[in-house]
Amino acid sequence: MDVVKFCSGLVGCKSVTPTDDGAIDYIAVFLRNLGFETQILEFSDKGRTVRNLFAKFEKGEGANLGFLGHSDVVPAGDGWDFDPFEPVQHNGFLIGRGVADMKGGISAFCCAVSKFIREESFNGSIRIFITGDEEVGSYQGIQSVLNWAESRREIPDDCLVGEPSSDKEVGDRVFIGHRGSINVRAKSVGKQLHVAYSQNDANSLTQVCRYVAAMKDYEWEYEDKRFPKTNLEPTLLFTGNYAENIIPGESSANINIRFSSDYDSEQLQQILSEKAVPLGIDLSFRVNGEAYCCDDERLKDLMSAAIRNITGLIPRFSTEGGTSDGRYMVKYCNVIEFGIQDETMHQSNEKVKIADLKKLEDIYFEFLRLYFNA
Ligand SMILES: [Zn+2]
Repeated sequence: MDVVKFCSGLVGCKSVTPTDDGAIDYIAVFLRNLGFETQILEFSDKGRTVRNLFAKFEKGEGANLGFLGHSDVVPAGDGWDFDPFEPVQHNGFLIGRGVADMKGGISAFCCAVSKFIREESFNGSIRIFITGDEEVGSYQGIQSVLNWAESRREIPDDCLVGEPSSDKEVGDRVFIGHRGSINVRAKSVGKQLHVAYSQNDANSLTQVCRYVAAMKDYEWEYEDKRFPKTNLEPTLLFTGNYAENIIPGESSANINIRFSSDYDSEQLQQILSEKAVPLGIDLSFRVNGEAYCCDDERLKDLMSAAIRNITGLIPRFSTEGGTSDGRYMVKYCNVIEFGIQDETMHQSNEKVKIADLKKLEDIYFEFLRLYFNA
């Protein structure tokens, strides 16, 4: 099937995370028609059910390649010139919520796999994992799907994650990992006072600001140069105090840290806590993922060759960008992440160049050919 047509149909499913609106079945029907065995996997927690897909095509005992994607998208938000869920072609672009992140990637690998199965003889198997809650924590998505797959021995040898990875042009950047991510809430409880009657150190907001400033100036170790440096960013200061002449009784700050493999989340929590104690700051943490890097030379060479053969570009292997579900998959097998440009993801008027979508399909097809001939 034509990749633009496939993608348009998929974007038409309003699968705002973690709802599905037919997206999983849309992909499952396509793969079943190609001869895939498909299994819809539903996992529930706290009244929320997430629909996922596992699909398998087996042809002999050879290598076992996986593809991973998510069919959920972030809410449309404001500022669209078109209906976000009725994709349009405009000036050479396909525009709609999810065309970049990552229904375009899913469409490109499904169409590439379809062409590969029809045109090439090969010995091996292809497993496709599509999840439905990547944008909201991946709990009933990839984490549950991988538990299921492991218990049934359905883990691939290698897995290609089709998330957006390209920078300026399709093929210029491939992700081999990402920094870890941790969210921190720092809270100080003091005493609410009239500003004219302040007491030393009773101002909870001053304490929180001191803490944020101290952590912002912290000298992070930086040994593993495969990653960008560890970085801390405050994202919110909150007192709940909207009057002018009150010292807030309680203040808090939200902080996010993106960290290289020089740290794990446990070590970071320890460093953050040591600095918090003298300032009387209480901390709470949410770990979004540890840093990971899959430096598999064979996979990198195959991806590099596939990209070069189609585009003439030599990709840069990078760990920039936000974390992905690759961080869960990498606990089970080799992972490489390659897809379209990440420029407009999560924005209004999310778009991909139609020519780029076709190029992406060609690169995935070339990757499949090289992978199973290697
Ligand atoms: Zn994504």
